[in-house]
Amino acid sequence: MHHLTGHSYLGGASDQPSGHTFDAINPANGATLAPPFHEATSAEVDLAVTRAVFAFDAFRSLSPESRAAFLEAIIEETLALGDAFLERCSAETGHPLARCAQERDRVVKHTRQFADLLREGSWVDARIDHGDRDRKPFPKPDVRSLLQAIGPVAVFGASNFPIAISVLGVDTISAFAAGCPVVVKGHPAHPGTCELAASAVLRAAERTGMPEGVFALLQGSKHEIGSQLVRHPALTAVAFTGSLRGGRALADLAAARPVPIPVYAEMGSVNPVFLLPEALATRGEQIAAGFVQALTVGVGQFCTNPGLVAGLDSPAWTTFTELAQEKAAAVAPATMLHPGIHQAYVLGVAQRQGHPRLQSLGTPATPPDPARHEAAAYLFTTTRQGLVEDPTLLDELFGPSATLVRCDKSADLVAIAEQMEGSLSATVHGTEADLANHAELLSVLSRKAGRLICNGYPVGLEICDSIHHGGPYPAATHSYFTSIGTRAIHRFVRPVCYQDWPGSLLPVELQDANPRGVMRMVDGVRRR
Ligand code: NAP
Repeated sequence: MHHLTGHSYLGGASDQPSGHTFDAINPANGATLAPPFHEATSAEVDLAVTRAVFAFDAFRSLSPESRAAFLEAIIEETLALGDAFLERCSAETGHPLARCAQERDRVVKHTRQFADLLREGSWVDARIDHGDRDRKPFPKPDVRSLLQAIGPVAVFGASNFPIAISVLGVDTISAFAAGCPVVVKGHPAHPGTCELAASAVLRAAERTGMPEGVFALLQGSKHEIGSQLVRHPALTAVAFTGSLRGGRALADLAAARPVPIPVYAEMGSVNPVFLLPEALATRGEQIAAGFVQALTVGVGQFCTNPGLVAGLDSPAWTTFTELAQEKAAAVAPATMLHPGIHQAYVLGVAQRQGHPRLQSLGTPATPPDPARHEAAAYLFTTTRQGLVEDPTLLDELFGPSATLVRCDKSADLVAIAEQMEGSLSATVHGTEADLANHAELLSVLSRKAGRLICNGYPVGLEICDSIHHGGPYPAATHSYFTSIGTRAIHRFVRPVCYQDWPGSLLPVELQDANPRGVMRMVDGVRRR
């Protein structure tokens, strides 16, 4: 079992901890959790990236099988951390042990998917256009291309997924799969969980003979550490999951570098839910139960939390709002991830309670305990006009609170969808007739969201090849890319084209014999 040291991990270097430390806090009781964690120094940030640069050539040149074995070793070493890993995570975040175990299962699943992706090999998108020396009036060159690793990548995880979107998240794993060394800026709300996860990655790297410097963890509670990392001249890309403010700050910083680099930031989202009339009239009770479950699971601390519900004014809408309030009030308050998120939620709820365009639907049956940083569920109502008068009502409030918007006519639903900023998801509840009658709404939503859900709820992402977790800004900085699912690897590669290159010097996936048997586009035809 790994004993926590409170140090950063610099890709094999012996630790030189700084004198400045910060503490991990148990949000359920405010207690400090040992040990103190050393803030990474400037020299450590530089050392971590410099070592990653040295590791890059060796790492990207490894066979796909070697990198797949590394990923599988990460799974084994993560599982070998045992219950102590889950217990530390639970103590640092207030997540129940069962939730921590689910996150670990998710890591096992996504890491295995990337190992499988590497072994299958077609993800490199090999393309071959054979040359023709006799073509008139000019000979046609032999042109081939595929995707190749870009270089050292920085990863910033979110506080709400301390295992599945942190050190061991898809960002790190997909960068490794691509052949990129990774420097993680640990989240200060769960530093012990980060250190344990980092120890598993480093043991896996050592066991499978990965080059020194392939992975580093920088601990820190100050923006300056992350900012310095993003400004480091040798860094080639950044993956970030967290708040809009944090993601935007890092994206601006990266764009202002002498050599700008991409920041793939997945940020907040309001995830609207539209209730169409027939569905509401026939399944209103069921929808209210499902909605409140989606709103309050994990104390509402999901980027896919449904923060806005819109429907047409009717007796069914009134019943829906009453039922939703009844169910929300009955949900027991629970501890939020850290005092900062709790404070932001409490302030946000208080602002909404005093907002002239919002009506509070009620209070929780059990009041939340501030000493335990607990949050309760709060629902508010407004009208389409309320959103017009104060568009900030469409902003995300991170936690189990939602605004229910009463509309007079179908055109109001379309107008709300138009008013919305980019969102990770948009959900519609409707019968077939409803969907046919609201074609314009569906069309607008397909422009606004990365994932469209029919008769379901946005929380609970399926971890699979086709998932897309992203969306137009401000859901993400680049709407083309996803941070979950195997397509996430595309953030850390670039196409490289070989023209009239000697066959024996080509990457194997581009050689005529296709020894790896990957799917390729050859002279315009996809084949193995
Ligand atoms: P956060 O406060 O933005 O922190 C994320 C990471 O970025 C931390 O390591 C933080 O460390 C660093 N950071 C933040 N601002 C920075 C800045 N200006 N300069 C340099 N580094 C900075 O996010 P969070 O509180 O963990 O997460 C909650 C938010 O994440 C919610 O809004 C939620 O919706 C969103 N979220 C989105 C997704 C998604 O997939 N889209 C998933 C989960 C959560 P330091 O504070 O030490 O600098």
